[in-house]
Amino acid sequence: MQTSIQYQALALFSGGLDSILATKVIQQQGISVLGIHFVSPFFGEPQSIEHWQKIYTIPIIAYDIGKEYVEMLRARPEHGFGKVLNPCIDCKVLMFTKAKQLMADYGAQFLISGTVVGQRPMSQRRDAINIVDRDADIRQIVLSPLSALRLKPTPMEENGLVDRSKLLGLWGRGRKAQLQMAKDLGMTEIPTPAGGCRLADKEAAARYFPLFQYHADPQAEDFELSNIGRQYWKKRSWLSIGRDQHDNNLLETFHKDSDYCFRLASFPGPIGLGRPLPDVPWSEIRIEEAASLVASFSPKAKKSLRSVDVIVGHNGTKKAISVLPDRGQENGWFPPEWAQTEEWKKAWVRK
Ligand code: SF4
Repeated sequence: MQTSIQYQALALFSGGLDSILATKVIQQQGISVLGIHFVSPFFGEPQSIEHWQKIYTIPIIAYDIGKEYVEMLRARPEHGFGKVLNPCIDCKVLMFTKAKQLMADYGAQFLISGTVVGQRPMSQRRDAINIVDRDADIRQIVLSPLSALRLKPTPMEENGLVDRSKLLGLWGRGRKAQLQMAKDLGMTEIPTPAGGCRLADKEAAARYFPLFQYHADPQAEDFELSNIGRQYWKKRSWLSIGRDQHDNNLLETFHKDSDYCFRLASFPGPIGLGRPLPDVPWSEIRIEEAASLVASFSPKAKKSLRSVDVIVGHNGTKKAISVLPDRGQENGWFPPEWAQTEEWKKAWVRK
């Protein structure tokens, strides 16, 4: 589908400093660029796009890649994981493949990457860059303006579309040159280098592993749900509990009829959302244990030192059950932890 506004280049725009600078270097040559900000349950800040457009004067769109990303993870990333659950090479291949498909919609002639050769251990080694270029079939159409002088000239430089003399030859982990560039560009907000990928964060990544381990067919929205609040599992039963009003509101939006929704009848407290996995029905005992765990996060219910009523909603019905607030360890509810994830990862990666 061709869109009315056309651009000469599409930039992979993560919101990190390198992606901003790479886009600006090309924009400064008078080339029109559209930033593509990929979003999935594991990364992406679509809520920041409006702000970025204003402060960096770059047109940006969000593109949801969650479904394809989950499929890639479930198929076990061909090039393995980094230190945590981050499949950086396969991730880049997927993003560039999608960006390449979008080029026709915008009339774009090439792609811009914020890659700085040698900066990151996994995805920005020279051999890793070659794998990405080969697997995504972008060798002839991708330009990395920040490291271009350390790479062979691309067709865009050879045919004069891009002026190679105005590109850079950055290399390695240092950030001094980028910070100076940001200063020269008058940037008032400089993003931190940490990035926002939950797959590269042990605590966040641990939330995902039970879905891979226990769920026969996890979808992107299941991974979105596992990002919310406190996560608890008991064997193949999954319960999410809000930590604050923001979490509770999110849980409300994710609530499906087939979920078990737990709310305290007479005390302020969190919402709990039990999502049954396919073919794993919840027994009455499991429902009571979950209600008891949800109630344990209400300080007033706990302080009452008596049974409290929890309203359980499921498939359009509601019923009150009476439970003692209990944190659940004795009942076997546990939050997923990195140590288990690491064990599972070792057994799960493609050999
Ligand atoms: S850190 Fe996350 S978003 Fe970045 S390349 Fe790796 S997997 Fe992809």
